[in-house]
Amino acid sequence: METILITFSILIITFIVGGIIWANIAERRHFNNGICPCCGQPLRCFDMDSQGGYLWKCDNCGYFTSTSWIKHKNVKIQRKRQINYGTL
Ligand SMILES: [Zn+2]
Repeated sequence: METILITFSILIITFIVGGIIWANIAERRHFNNGICPCCGQPLRCFDMDSQGGYLWKCDNCGYFTSTSWIKHKNVKIQRKRQINYGTL
């Protein structure tokens, strides 16, 4: 009985870890290091969701993606600029 429980636990952990890795890879592919995969223009961070994920948009072609695993180092600077433009 114990062996079944341990095997079951390992299976569940494997699925969770596998899911996280898969989500991370898929997200990196969609984010493409901040470059739009459609037209090659840099993506702009325009909002942050309630879970702390970032919403990205290409101003050139309208490509849209969101990231929750990737913490881009330029996000804060881009958000500040966005706020400054909004108050001008
Ligand atoms: Zn684009």
